[in-house]
Amino acid sequence: MKASQFLISTQKEAPADAEVASHKLMMRAGMIKKLGAGIYTYMPMGLRVIRKVEAIVREEMDRAGAVELTMPVVQPAELWQESGRFQAYGPELLRIKDRHERDFIVQPTSEECITDIGRQELRSYKQLPRNLYQIQTKFRDERRPRFGLMRGREFTMKDAYSFDRDLDGAKRSYQQMAKAYRAIFDRFGLRYRAVAADSGAIGGDVSQEFQVIAATGEDAIVYSQGSEYAANMEKAEALAPAAPRPGPARAMEKTPTPGKSTCEDVAQLLSVPLQTTVKSLVLATERLNEQGEIVETLVWLLLIRGDHDMNEVKVSKVAGLNKGFRFATAAEIVDHFGAEPGYLGPIGTHKPVKVVVDREVAVMADWICGANEEDFHLTGVNWGRDLPEPDLVADIRNVVEGDLSPDGQGRLSIERGIEIGHIFVLGTKYSEAMDATFLDEDGKPKLFQMGCYGIGITRLPAAAIEQNHDERGIIWPDALAPFTVVVCPIGMDRSAEVKAAAEKLYGELAAAGVDVILDDRGERPGAMFADWELIGVPHRVVISERGLKEGQFEYQHRRDAAATKVAASEALGFVK
Ligand code: ATP
Ligand code: MG
Ligand code: MG
Ligand code: MG
Repeated sequence: MKASQFLISTQKEAPADAEVASHKLMMRAGMIKKLGAGIYTYMPMGLRVIRKVEAIVREEMDRAGAVELTMPVVQPAELWQESGRFQAYGPELLRIKDRHERDFIVQPTSEECITDIGRQELRSYKQLPRNLYQIQTKFRDERRPRFGLMRGREFTMKDAYSFDRDLDGAKRSYQQMAKAYRAIFDRFGLRYRAVAADSGAIGGDVSQEFQVIAATGEDAIVYSQGSEYAANMEKAEALAPAAPRPGPARAMEKTPTPGKSTCEDVAQLLSVPLQTTVKSLVLATERLNEQGEIVETLVWLLLIRGDHDMNEVKVSKVAGLNKGFRFATAAEIVDHFGAEPGYLGPIGTHKPVKVVVDREVAVMADWICGANEEDFHLTGVNWGRDLPEPDLVADIRNVVEGDLSPDGQGRLSIERGIEIGHIFVLGTKYSEAMDATFLDEDGKPKLFQMGCYGIGITRLPAAAIEQNHDERGIIWPDALAPFTVVVCPIGMDRSAEVKAAAEKLYGELAAAGVDVILDDRGERPGAMFADWELIGVPHRVVISERGLKEGQFEYQHRRDAAATKVAASEALGFVK
């Protein structure tokens, strides 16, 4: 590829809504372009990365014996009514009507369609086991699309589905996929963990998530140092003993400053209907910098349900001061309170509490909040309604670092992760609902034992960038790079020698099957290098008149601090 023919659209600045490195860098590198909330064009540079992801996933799926097909993006609602998910799926399912007022959905996943294929095509036990997969567009009307491709509304997923005669077979198919997933994520050079997970809306009994380790991940994962135990936080919490955790008594046990705001004040000030005897609690937490100065104050309004079930506290409002008003993210809530489980002591219990983000409350300007500290209150707190929704449910951890793991073999560590893949044993959930059977050896119809296996194809590059970037840009692992090598001639328009040498090397690399791009745009060296460092091409060869005089090119890996001189005659072997 020649850069002059390609579309390179690097940007100096990331858009304001880009919060995490991968989103910022993909936008700045011109890999994606936003069309709407959670809806992106994969620009030529980004598409090349996505194609690399697809190719490796396809290769490993094929190797594991799965067979590719493509199912429709738009599917008739009837199938989804059969499974019950047309109603049950909730607002993430995009439901549309055609000109005849018939209901359709845009696939968020495809269990129904594949079960329908299974019941028509897999008639006999002799055709089992079977694993069918697609790499196809999905749509989920996410409550909060964000982080670019990480949580899009339209995205690409690899989804595979297995059909087996019995549960043992289904478990074998599942294990085979688990193995294929490890092979895939190893090839991408990702640091990840496979963790036990709840099966959620998809249903089934056995399930594992593949989580790419990253501080910006939306999930928390719990694993044991010293044993095999690893689970996502949801699963770990479900298993954790509900026993009260003895937390340190904190200053928060004081009532709010009299005359400023009490629980009753808060309840009164909220002009939305609330459950009967709602109690509330306002907390302020401060973030300090290394010098101990307050850089941010967050105000948390917790509404406690009238039934005094202290296990559930609703965070109706979360406001930030000093940085202007904003909602905090679920991650922040977890970080703040999760770090100090005793923090919620003032509501009368040290029991672990679950924080659920609740409805919005009325607009209130310049409110004064008690901060549960004598003579300490906050002024100018604004509660607003036309603000972005806070994050969904965030659990306060009752699983804490250093605790004994459930297998009793090690101590727990907690890390943040990005869910990049998810595998399930579904059992007969769909085959039963949709009456999908095959004829077994005894001539009797039997329900399929199924499994389903997803990989976030378009989420994967974003996750990879979270692990591989620096202040200059992306650092692609070779397996994901849009181009493996960039040839940068300096002064190509002035020097016939440089032009000839660059084109020769470019031609040789291309002929050798290397994904090479020749930067023939005539950019100045500084701008040219900055572009490729931002885009993250792992190998760069610079050809200049000065170097050519000594018969040398300059080679630099994206991770190298400086370039190395390479004899022009050896350059091909060097980068190939
Ligand atoms: P999440 O917990 O992040 O919402 P999920 O559990 O809803 O994901 P699955 O139904 O397990 O997702 O789908 C399989 C895979 O598809 C996920 O592991 C993830 O990699 C990817 N995926 C899910 N939702 C999105 C999205 N909105 N944007 C990009 N990829 C996604
Ligand atoms: Mg989801
Ligand atoms: Mg999930
Ligand atoms: Mg999942």
